[in-house]
Amino acid sequence: MINLRTQGEMDTIAHAGSIIGRCHAELSARIVPGVSTQEIDTFVEEFIVGHEGAIPAFKGLYGFPGSACISLNEEVVHGIPSEDRILNEGDIVSVDIGVRLDGWYSDSARTFAVGSISSEARALLDVTSLALDAAMEVSVPGNHVGDIGAAVIRTCEGTNYGIIRELVGHGVGRELHEEPQVPNYGRDGHGPLLREGMVLAIEPMLSAGTPRIKTLEDGWTVITADRSLSAHFEHTVGITKDGPRILTLAEGPIAAGNPASETS
Ligand code: MG
Ligand code: MG
Repeated sequence: MINLRTQGEMDTIAHAGSIIGRCHAELSARIVPGVSTQEIDTFVEEFIVGHEGAIPAFKGLYGFPGSACISLNEEVVHGIPSEDRILNEGDIVSVDIGVRLDGWYSDSARTFAVGSISSEARALLDVTSLALDAAMEVSVPGNHVGDIGAAVIRTCEGTNYGIIRELVGHGVGRELHEEPQVPNYGRDGHGPLLREGMVLAIEPMLSAGTPRIKTLEDGWTVITADRSLSAHFEHTVGITKDGPRILTLAEGPIAAGNPASETS
């Protein structure tokens, strides 16, 4: 069943999402060479719980040990934070964050550059971010879920990037993962109808090489099969009669609590 949400419910999801948006903004200055992915995770957790009632949604979900999924270079998603994973100049690192607030979830990911990165890595980040923009733009009532994937495909035309097909976006609401699935491939006019009130996590994942992936022995970390670089951008988006409403922006409604770390 695909749930439809009221504007007030979307407001609460946007409250949760604004914590993620501001956490990502704070991370920009903190993602530098020499930092471990555990340090990033600790910052994310403290930032989230510094807001009254907010909890890191990924921690313990299906048994995941971290507060954020932190995926380096060829890692696509679900990287486990570790003291032993140190960011180096030229790396790219994806930080996927979920927040639960007042019983509602929000979900957003962004891939960061560590110091100065190659023009190839920069191009991959730019195209993945543009794919998310294009996918959100068509997320309006009357379109279909297939239009979202088709927009991702169109954005990648003329590149040799792989579109990761085995991982998909999803509905978001009372659960982190709800119906429908939102693939990053599709055909215009196909798939479930987009209706006012739907809330979707739209999350293109691209690789600089093959679209094939595999999971490491830790049971979590998903990497590209050819170990090419991978990027991931995600927003939680509400379908409204006024167009797509991005619910994971830093400038969303301010959630309760205002920890000092936000202004330091
Ligand atoms: Mg996510
Ligand atoms: Mg997601």
